[in-house]
Order: sequence, then structure tokens, then C-alpha cells
Amino acid sequence: MNRERGFATLCVGYERNAKGPDKSGSISTPIYQTSTYAHPEVGQSTGYDYSRVHNPTREKLEKVVAGLEGGVDAVAFSSGMAAITALMEIFKPGDHIITDADLYGGSIRLFDHICEKNGMEFSHIDINTEDPEDFIRENTRAIYIETPTNPMMNIVDIRRMADIAHSHGLLLIVDNTFLSPYFQKPLSLGADIVVHSGTKFLGGHNDTLAGFVVCKGSDTAEKIRFIVKTIGSALAPFDSFLVLRGIKTLPLRMEKAQENAFSIVKYLQANPEVKNVYYPGLPESRGYEVCKSQASGFGSMITFEVSSAGLARHILKSTQLIPFAESLGGTETLLTYPMTQTHADVPEEVRLKNGINDRVLRLSAGIEDVNDLIEDLSQAFESYGC
Ligand SMILES: *Cc1c(COP(=O)(O)O)cnc(C)c1O
Repeated sequence: MNRERGFATLCVGYERNAKGPDKSGSISTPIYQTSTYAHPEVGQSTGYDYSRVHNPTREKLEKVVAGLEGGVDAVAFSSGMAAITALMEIFKPGDHIITDADLYGGSIRLFDHICEKNGMEFSHIDINTEDPEDFIRENTRAIYIETPTNPMMNIVDIRRMADIAHSHGLLLIVDNTFLSPYFQKPLSLGADIVVHSGTKFLGGHNDTLAGFVVCKGSDTAEKIRFIVKTIGSALAPFDSFLVLRGIKTLPLRMEKAQENAFSIVKYLQANPEVKNVYYPGLPESRGYEVCKSQASGFGSMITFEVSSAGLARHILKSTQLIPFAESLGGTETLLTYPMTQTHADVPEEVRLKNGINDRVLRLSAGIEDVNDLIEDLSQAFESYGC
């Protein structure tokens, strides 16, 4: 049989080419909760020496994630930020990176406060209106994007960015957290490196933190392997197990959460107190066509602007079912306030320019009964007297 295994089969854990269970017959991946491994004799190794470097549970997860993204290797880290921080170690002082200005706030904080301190340079540009090519310098090494962006749900054309990057010898790095490889595979569209907050859709149950760097080429993969072994921010065995378990249901969760998101978007659009709904699945949204051309779905993240800051704050304290909490991509629907939560450290003028004002809320649709979600939102709006 030459046919490649299907995505859902890879998610269940049958990574590329692997046969079934190990010798024990265990269907579920065992948690190798060990820090170290016995050597048969001097000069010999089981292949496992120390868990900072190798751990069978983590390795299984890494193989599964590499398969889902179509990379040569994936490295699992203790959080998304640990993954992005490790990735930045492939660069050196004086290197310059062009990023979209609308990014996860923690990534901007890392770039502006840690990487700049270490001598790197960044240009944060509005990729929708500015051409990255105009910002390329002699020391530029990479273009770094998210699509859709967090939180404004802008769509960036991955193929176009890859063309620009490669015609100047730069790497294209894509944070694929929002759509997950179920809906979007940046490496197949020309990206060189994918990063993930595995805390979100891959883990999927709001119960653990994780992060990934997935590489298309073995050169970068080798560098990342060296970095993780050296700085020691690899994912722990139990967390690796949780993410492996989460990924088993990734396709089902992505479909259901997206279906719920579409219903919530429809409800929000019909609500006169909602002034803007940012969701790439709306045909009138700016990124719709590009998103359709590079992804097989639009995801379950919705950002919306209500009529007043008072109403926004009221909704956050009045929902009965939906928690007001950071994070996204889990079974539970969550509402957050980007201005004071995820993007609190982004300078105010940048935040406002990107559209993140005090009336903007972000919702991550979960997999609950959508009628309960809409009823909960309705009662929150209505109790404000709208
Ligand atoms: C959450 C998030 C991160 C950071 O991941 P952590 O697991 O929280 O460290 C990075 N990028 C995006 C798009 C995110 O949503």
C-alpha cells in the first residue's frame, strides 16, 4: 500500500510508517516518567541517556506532530513561548526579522524585550498594507507571521510571503496555532518553520501547556535539537501524554468548534450592540479569499467589537457558562479581553492602530451545545439593558 496515511489516522497516533503498538501491546502511549536511563555497558546506550534530550513519550508526540505538519522533525517544548524562544536562538546578534505587527502579545514581548536586548532587530509592519520587501535589509534573516492573526483575525498570504522570503534568502516562520495543521499546513505552502502553542488546539482540553517547532529542512531541525538539549525547555513526559491524547480528537474538535463558531458569528452579526465581527469565514471579510485558498477551514476564533467599553466589561462578568479566561482552542468556550489580557504589554498606539480597543472581545468557540453558548451570550447582553 503506497497511499499516505490520512490525517485523522496520524492524529490517532499511527505516525508515518510506524506499525501498531509496542511489544507490550499497549494501545495508549506509556508515560516514561524517568529522568535517566541505564546503560548496558561503557560505550553503549539504549538510545536514551537523559530525559532532557530523549524521552520515548515525548518522541512519540514529536513524530505525530511532524507528520501532521509534514515536517522532517518537530521538537516539543514546555510552552509555546518556550518553543519560540528556542527558535530565536538560531539567530545571532545583529540579525533582523520582519514581523507582522498583529501577533500574539507574548511573541511581541519576547521580540522587543528579550531578543532586542540580545542584539536582534525587528521591524513590525502591517503586512496587509505594507510590503515586507520594502523593509528587507542586508542583515534580514526571516519573516515571522501568524495567520489568522491574534486577535484581529487578519489573513496573511503564506505563499506570497514564502516567495518574498525565498527570493531574498530569508526563512519564513509561521505560527500555525490558530488553525492547527487540521485546517492549514504552512510547510506545504512554502514556509520553512512552523511554531505552535500546543496549549491551544493540539492539546485542546485547557489542561496543559506545550509548544512546538516544526522544521521543513534537516539543517534547521538539527539546530533546534541542539538548542533544546542545551537550554532544557523540552516538554515533560506526562504533558507529552496529554497532548498526544488531545491530538487523537483534533479533527473532530476542529470541525465541531468551527461549526459552533459559525453559529455564534451569525448570532453576533444579528445583534445591534455588536459593531464589528472579525471572522475570516465571512465572505465579506478582507481575508476570506486568501484564507480559502490556503486553508481548508476558518477555525473557531472570533473577535468582535461591541458598542461600548461598559458593555464589553459587563459581558465578561455576566456570562454564566462561558468563563472570562485567557487561552483558546480547548473544549471549553472562553471569552477574553485582549486589551488587558493577551495584549496588555503591546504599546498602546500599536494596539489601537491594530484595532484592539476597549470594546473588543475575543471568543474561542469550544465544543459545547451551541444553543447554550448563544443563550449565555444573549443573557449577558440583555442584562446590560440592551
Ligand atoms: C498562546 C499563544 C502563544 C504562546 O503559547 P503558550 O503555550 O501560551 O506559551 C503563541 N502564539 C499564539 C498564536 C498563541 O495563541
